[in-house]
Amino acid sequence: MKAYAIVLAAGKGLRAGQKQNKMFARLAGKTPLEYSLKACRRAGCFDGVVIVCQPQEIERAKAIGREIFPDACYVAGGATRQESAYAGLKALPADADIAAIHDGARCFIRPELFVRCIESCKQYGSGVAGRRCTDTVKVVDGEDCFVKTLNRDELILVETPQVFMYREILEAYEQAFAQNYTGTDDASLMERMGKQVKLVESQGENFKLTMPGDFARGERHLQREQAMRIGQGYDIHALVSGRPLILGGVHIPHETGLAGHSDADALVHALIDALLGAAAMGDIGELFPDTDPAYKGADSMALLAQVKQLLDAENWQIDNVDATLFLEKPKMQPYKTVIRDTLAKALGLKVDQINIKAKTAEKFGAVGRQEAIAASVTCLLHR
Ligand code: MG
Repeated sequence: MKAYAIVLAAGKGLRAGQKQNKMFARLAGKTPLEYSLKACRRAGCFDGVVIVCQPQEIERAKAIGREIFPDACYVAGGATRQESAYAGLKALPADADIAAIHDGARCFIRPELFVRCIESCKQYGSGVAGRRCTDTVKVVDGEDCFVKTLNRDELILVETPQVFMYREILEAYEQAFAQNYTGTDDASLMERMGKQVKLVESQGENFKLTMPGDFARGERHLQREQAMRIGQGYDIHALVSGRPLILGGVHIPHETGLAGHSDADALVHALIDALLGAAAMGDIGELFPDTDPAYKGADSMALLAQVKQLLDAENWQIDNVDATLFLEKPKMQPYKTVIRDTLAKALGLKVDQINIKAKTAEKFGAVGRQEAIAASVTCLLHR
């Protein structure tokens, strides 16, 4: 199925208090339009994009969109959101199956939300982003006096993207215009056609830049998102006979191996702790308790894969990993390359993003007496 995004950027943004259309204002050096388009691209689920802007701003929008979506289509919007979305819908190619309408001013959207809305549309015929209401919502009369309290369990705060089968949403728009009906979102036009619209719960920030304070909130959000995060992890396991020696997911021939509840891969355990530490997600013991029989003899690389999934879900990217092993024997030089390859593959990184060092303890302490092997790992993450 072919899916297209329609990014609405034609508003005047009068309420946002900017001297220009808010889609072209600066947020940490970039425009909201650029953030929105990049999120569409990272989602990786669109066959094309239509950008709806004011006629006099099309060239400006092209200058921003060119690098991100070289084949994007630009159309002139109307006086209202509904007119602009309709112009975008009419610009989709005939082979479009799915249309995702997104307010460009919701520029902090996580790409995964596009993906989930598209998936919902494939399964249920629609997928509209929104979140459950946690505040109490009341109805007031003309004098601002409370008339009644709504049941918040039934209330959803609707966002975008709003994703529908193209033919259906186009028909809903045609009917709305034919009958002079104006809704405040796309889903409402489907609802009045008697169509079922499915909620996709959004996570993370997906607020719309509307009021002046939203820009300050956006700046704070971007600072948090763009910050680099350092993590460090350490682990030590006893060397005993009758156990394999596994370090960094690689079996290393040796007369002794590491004792532990799992496969006792001290290097991977320290790596997991470094990653969790950088992401502020706790530590390996909380995630995979050694009191849990499920992790007896566990393959630490499988645990690492789970941690990678957690990082992916929170949008964390790994910049680099630097590890030091503390051991007297065996010599690690012959195994460093295969360990780097193994870890790079597991984390979806390039080999040069991973470094392995090995040191002896000069015969001091438990490591020096060959009673244990320790590992220390540092990593850097960003979103
Ligand atoms: Mg351990």
